Amino acid sequence: MWKKISLVVLVAFIALTAVSQVEARKNGTVVLTFDDVRKNVYTNAVPILDELGFKATFFPATSWMNELEYMTEEQIKKLFDEGNEIGCHTRNHISPLELDYDGLVDEIEGARADLEAIGVTMSKSFAAPFGEYNPAVIAQLMVDGVINCNRHAFQGDGLAFNKPKTFNPVEVIVVSVRSYTSLNWLRRLVSKAGDRGWILVLVFHGDDKVPADEYDMRHRNFTRLMYHINWWANEKSGPRIDVLTLAQAIEKYKR
Ligand SMILES: [Zn+2]
Repeated sequence: MWKKISLVVLVAFIALTAVSQVEARKNGTVVLTFDDVRKNVYTNAVPILDELGFKATFFPATSWMNELEYMTEEQIKKLFDEGNEIGCHTRNHISPLELDYDGLVDEIEGARADLEAIGVTMSKSFAAPFGEYNPAVIAQLMVDGVINCNRHAFQGDGLAFNKPKTFNPVEVIVVSVRSYTSLNWLRRLVSKAGDRGWILVLVFHGDDKVPADEYDMRHRNFTRLMYHINWWANEKSGPRIDVLTLAQAIEKYKR
């Protein structure tokens, strides 16, 4: 009799442990980032983000603020005040590979000063202009202590994700979205991040009804992608996705 009961208890214990291990797995994560902060992102993408309650990470090249195709200072300030992250994309959009140490620090500190002047605190996230950087640049950034994050763009299913155990804030893997990027492929990446508990960081540039160049995503596709993410974030049962800023994602996976 007791043997039977203890067996039942043991089986129940093992089953409960298995369930709690599944439950203990963290949600997947999607991070939405926007390089250069084109004006059409403010006009077209931000209203969808607001509607769905998503916060994003914006990377302005600060000398471009107020120029015709880019956001104004007021718009960037408003995004910041509403809880979005404003990161560093340098002041003049110069490849870090073309700068020596002092030049790089000037570009970063210049961007920080430009943002401070409009009441925006620049985060520690760094998006290298043209995606160009190397280990020396990362070392410079880290020694200076101004920035803790860089990114490396890969394409292809297997290489598109950051994994929780190996998530490296100094070299975040990103997927750069272009006008020709397949919506179905992007939706599949989102679902995979949700299914496996992985981290997907998307880089957008522009969002327009009809793409003016390869950096604009077609607005209809952007909207569909955001609704797919919203289904994973808020509507489905079972494993979910957290939509986070880059700084929030780094905090979530900090070891
Ligand atoms: Zn850029």
